[in-house]
Amino acid sequence: MVLAQLGGSISRALQQMSNATIIDEKVLNDCLNEITRALLQADVQFKLVRDMQTNIKKIVNLDDLAAGHNKRKIIQQAIFNELCKMLDPGKPSFTPKKGKTSVIMFVGLQGSGKTTTCTKYAYYHQKKGWKPALVCADTFRAGAFDQLKQNATKAKIPFYGSYTESDPVSIAVEGVERFKRENCDLIIVDTSGRHKQEAALFEEMRQVSEATKPDLVIFVMDSSIGQAAFDQAQAFKQSVAVGAVIVTKMDGHAKGGGALSAVAATKSPVIFIGTGEHMDEFEVFDVKPFVSRLLG
Ligand code: GDP
Repeated sequence: MVLAQLGGSISRALQQMSNATIIDEKVLNDCLNEITRALLQADVQFKLVRDMQTNIKKIVNLDDLAAGHNKRKIIQQAIFNELCKMLDPGKPSFTPKKGKTSVIMFVGLQGSGKTTTCTKYAYYHQKKGWKPALVCADTFRAGAFDQLKQNATKAKIPFYGSYTESDPVSIAVEGVERFKRENCDLIIVDTSGRHKQEAALFEEMRQVSEATKPDLVIFVMDSSIGQAAFDQAQAFKQSVAVGAVIVTKMDGHAKGGGALSAVAATKSPVIFIGTGEHMDEFEVFDVKPFVSRLLG
């Protein structure tokens, strides 16, 4: 189910409730069941959806609401708040400061959009007057360095990588050191991906992280991976200190549910979303406007 459909289904459920003359237990249950169905179809993890339903029922106790209360408003507000809570882990991620060096390490599976997202992130900050730099520590995928180099050149962002060095840790360290000397304030390290979660990848990530001591590790996730999102995000979080999530490919056939699951699994906020292949198809992610849009 694409995001727009999820939003449509939820607002339809709310509309149906609004059309009912009396809001009783049955109307509320019908509405919640409809929303549950929509969220599950959008690949939100079952446990998250169940918890949400329980919480709303706890908040909206129809017996306790005196006749004068606007039950529809209270229910709608409770649904809004619960969806926001799902997307808000309660603590903001590390925020780099312009003019002060920060090292940001990107992790994710191959094909998730990691390399593209590194450049988008650098470009976004460069437009705001930062001095970003890109380090390609992906020695696993043939062509990874060329891709990063091409993107970086197009955006006029300094980059570092090697065609001959096969040790990702030494490349990462050398790149970070060089750009620290050059007073870059946002040093972005792109790491290897793999087709699936495997021990070698996680070990490499751990080593790069230990050697470069990133201020923030960003987990990049393809929004179309569906129900696999929770486990995948959790596996990354267990290996490195993921502090933020970027969800890519929110254009096209994107499923919104994966974002909710990734937040739950990593206890980290989504900070940006990717909305296309181009450098500037990249948006800051804000929970409340996102949920408002979802509810229509
Ligand atoms: P990596 O293997 O994780 O480094 O992935 P890449 O950065 O090479 O991206 C894989 C593919 O996804 C490329 O064709 C990208 O152009 C594409 N891609 C990345 N982000 C987005 C996005 O937000 N939307 C769309 N439609 N495509 C994207």
